[in-house]
Amino acid sequence: MPWGSVQSRHPQHGSSPPPDLVVDHTPPREACGVFGVLARGRAVAHLTFDGLYALQHRGQESAGMAVSDGQDMVVVKDMGLVTNVFNDYRLAGLQGHLAIGHTRYSTTGSSTWHNAQPVYRTAGNSAFALGHNGNLTNAGALANDAGMLPGLVTSDSDLIAERLARHLEANDKATVVDALHEVLPALEGAFSLVLIDHDRLIGVRDPHGFRPLCLGDLDGQGVLASESPALDVCGARFVREIEPGEVVVIEDAGWHSEWPWAPAEIDPKLCLFEFVYLARPDSRLYGQELHQARMRMGERLAAQAPVAADMVMGVPDSGLPAAEGYARASGITYGQGLVKNRYIGRTFIAPDQAQRDAGVRRKLNPLRDNIARKRLVVVDDSIVRGTTTRAMVRMLREAGAREVHLRVSSPPYRWPCFYGLATGTRDELIAGRLEVDEIRAYVGADSLVYLSLEGLKEATGAAEAGFCDACLTGDYPVPVPVELTTAGALGRVGG
Ligand code: SF4
Ligand code: MG
Repeated sequence: MPWGSVQSRHPQHGSSPPPDLVVDHTPPREACGVFGVLARGRAVAHLTFDGLYALQHRGQESAGMAVSDGQDMVVVKDMGLVTNVFNDYRLAGLQGHLAIGHTRYSTTGSSTWHNAQPVYRTAGNSAFALGHNGNLTNAGALANDAGMLPGLVTSDSDLIAERLARHLEANDKATVVDALHEVLPALEGAFSLVLIDHDRLIGVRDPHGFRPLCLGDLDGQGVLASESPALDVCGARFVREIEPGEVVVIEDAGWHSEWPWAPAEIDPKLCLFEFVYLARPDSRLYGQELHQARMRMGERLAAQAPVAADMVMGVPDSGLPAAEGYARASGITYGQGLVKNRYIGRTFIAPDQAQRDAGVRRKLNPLRDNIARKRLVVVDDSIVRGTTTRAMVRMLREAGAREVHLRVSSPPYRWPCFYGLATGTRDELIAGRLEVDEIRAYVGADSLVYLSLEGLKEATGAAEAGFCDACLTGDYPVPVPVELTTAGALGRVGG
């Protein structure tokens, strides 16, 4: 089908944050969120908005969507939250039956309009848009191969689109699916992708399945989303997770799977931190509801590290389910000790401890009467840099806590992630530098215990399914080039 006019537009250019509000890249909380829908007769832009809104926790720096009516493809993307980028007026202008959307997290350096997604390309008589969650580990080599100057490749997602476009330009009759068969096997690292061309929606999960992607059914038509709550919100029925190494092609006639990789290359390594805190508690991964899995992490922690205390509390929001599990298994009363400001999006780099404390106060406030004179078990999901934890412990003590026993529902986070989670270098990770007792002393807790790796995997309820645990063990399932391990900048690119 020939294309009519193809356009890509951006309503306004995002501006950099003012210098006194430099965005803090730690703690690493976000990956990216992707969504896609093919639904004739439905307002797909609105469905995509709802899907992205449900995935907002995966990235708060930019949001975008591409919508096609089979003739025109329009891309709207901008810096900011989903609700900043889209309003009724803008959504009403996005007509079609095919759409993909993306919410992005990155660091200050790469936080530009140009890197917002979806990425859009015309190629020959075709056009496509692509959204990527993950991070390629061989972007430099791929760019060299293609004769692109690495410095000019602004994102690895852009690089995937460029390679697909080149294949389509060189092969008149090729479809985007054909181009994927050519291009995908050369990619290394983490990539969950959604794509649309003029008449199909495509979902891709890399052969390790580092990042999640699931398939939904909306009255017989197809939906793709990073996490299942994005299906729920638009009324789609969860069908299943896309398999590692699977390409799902959704067309008007239905959907089918293709497999560009040899079976021997498929080796599931879902990010363990999707279970610990990245994904929403109401998400399902490996057949498990994450809230239940997080409660089991707390139960295991209670068995592994009991302590005499008056109250168990969680650090909101992500520490709460594990705290509930700890309380249930230990028999110690569960209570709230901290209230979180729901409207805080991000924390900022603070030059000294006083300002770091102020940053934590902006986000958390103690319930003084509830914690005064108590021996507290405080459960959190992870300690990344340690500065927030230190300020939080100080806050609890100032509010009258008699003892603070920290329990963490994952093992020490020692190694940087190169598979789509934005982390700092090893030096920035407190457990990369210090032993557990030194960390305890630094954060000012009376005791500190981390859940064992074995305990964590068992608590997922899917221990046999295959996990990446590289940030905990240093055992990287996909080799990481030396330049990535030394260059903080690339190592921090999230997507
Ligand atoms: Fe997840 Fe850690 Fe593996 Fe990164 S290194 S994908 S954060 S388990
Ligand atoms: Mg937390």
